[in-house]
Amino acid sequence: ATERDAEFLMFGATGDLAKRKLYPSLYNLYQKGTLGTHFVLLGTSRAKLNDDEFRDVVKQSLVHAGEKADTKEAAEFLSRFYYVQHDVTDKAHYSVLRDRLNELDKKYKANGNRIFYLSMAPQFFGPVAGYIKTEGLQSTNGGFNRLVIEKPFGRDFESAKKLNDELSKSFDENQIFRIDHYLGKEMIQNIMALRFGNTVLESLWNNRYIDNIQVTLAEKLGVEERAGYYDNSGALRDMVQNHIMQIVSLLAMEQPVAFLDSDIRTEKVKALRSLRVYDVAEAATNFIRGQYGSYGDEPDYRHEDDVPRDSNTETFVAGKLLFDNYRWSGTPFYIRTGKKLAGKFTRIDVVFKKPLVDIFAFPQSGEKPLSANVLTIFVEPNAGFSLQLNAKNNEPGFQTEPVNLTYMIDQAHSDQTPEPYERLLHDVLKGDGTNFSSWSEVAYSWKFVDQIRRVWDLSEPDFPNYTPYSMGPASAHELLERDHREWVYHL
Ligand code: NAD
Repeated sequence: ATERDAEFLMFGATGDLAKRKLYPSLYNLYQKGTLGTHFVLLGTSRAKLNDDEFRDVVKQSLVHAGEKADTKEAAEFLSRFYYVQHDVTDKAHYSVLRDRLNELDKKYKANGNRIFYLSMAPQFFGPVAGYIKTEGLQSTNGGFNRLVIEKPFGRDFESAKKLNDELSKSFDENQIFRIDHYLGKEMIQNIMALRFGNTVLESLWNNRYIDNIQVTLAEKLGVEERAGYYDNSGALRDMVQNHIMQIVSLLAMEQPVAFLDSDIRTEKVKALRSLRVYDVAEAATNFIRGQYGSYGDEPDYRHEDDVPRDSNTETFVAGKLLFDNYRWSGTPFYIRTGKKLAGKFTRIDVVFKKPLVDIFAFPQSGEKPLSANVLTIFVEPNAGFSLQLNAKNNEPGFQTEPVNLTYMIDQAHSDQTPEPYERLLHDVLKGDGTNFSSWSEVAYSWKFVDQIRRVWDLSEPDFPNYTPYSMGPASAHELLERDHREWVYHL
């Protein structure tokens, strides 16, 4: 059996994520030949549809993604989609899914390779995974059985552990693919290439030469239609525990023995283990939170639809992370993320230490002191990186100024860059867990984040505390100012 021979069982097949991301990504893989003649997908959800109606749903999703869906190739792709209406809480009905899976497996010679994709609300992850096993949906003829699950993975360590214990009854850790779509992004995957492919970076990648590292995930939109979900979660759980912790672990980890998922996981887990879990006093000083106020006609967070008027949910968080290990002791990682900020972008700024002696600075001459070298990794919207160095300018006298060596992926190439979900689905087909979160990573992240949450829950925040389309509350600025630093990106 090759990776191309796979049968998908898509739970939540009529949902937003499946339509917006998963079907267009599968179509791209199909067009590139990654999914071969043995590909078949059985969709299931509560909606009452027959196969043809379901194919139409998928077709519309391709059209929506800008594909020409009237071609022979598209028709061929769509002919591989089948549908069964099913309530996932109804145990008895799993036999219908099982029989249909077996039939389609035979018809398409999928060799018993099964990918179970849970694109539905998290409360169903545990029970569905359980029924997949107990009701005999896994193949037993030597093919692979893989489970793909969406975020969020729990809402604290306890619930994540409970969920993981449930999943473990049906799937081994190496069969579970926990999606973190940031890990599918071009420049996040490039962190390892930049670090371990370049002596000029990796030899300086430690506390002797790096002053601090800053990670910013900024969103311009407010909560929009997802307020019900978001108000139960907040920025710390929704963004820090998963995406930011994953990015930070890639920045902080030691060099893996080989470029293999198991070796990479080992190093990420080691990094997260050395992240200092704060006590009450440290959590209170090293993390700050925010909630956006009103702006013109736009309501403040507490007046958004579906948000309680007294909500203390944070729409912004900034924090300082400390790794207690030889490489990083003394070099903080500052992180921030929030809604209704000055723009929609993700970037990483690695700030190097200034030369110990600035021989160009003559106090009486008014020369500007040297700037720090900064490596900025632009993750989105544009992908690339830039290294800020000091050079002499060509004016009379001798003055230095910062110049940038910049590499940006141009538009033509970025149009060809696969979408995160396309890469991640391809990885699932290959059985490569590099770009997914392992249970240990999830567990350490929650233990860190839980401590912040616990401390926050002890006191009433003074919300709202930031103006929309700024870079968050003043306390985010003060967090670095206290350490005699500033955010590289500021307004
Ligand atoms: P959705 O609400 O749009 O879709 C849910 C799907 O589940 C629908 O097909 C619905 O029919 C089905 N469903 C609900 N209850 C069911 C039941 N009892 N039995 C059978 N089917 C049932 O959700 P979504 O936005 O597509 O999200 C799916 C998952 O992806 C969630 O875990 C979410 O957190 C995650 N996620 C979504 C996005 C996104 O952009 N939409 C982004 C990241 C993660």
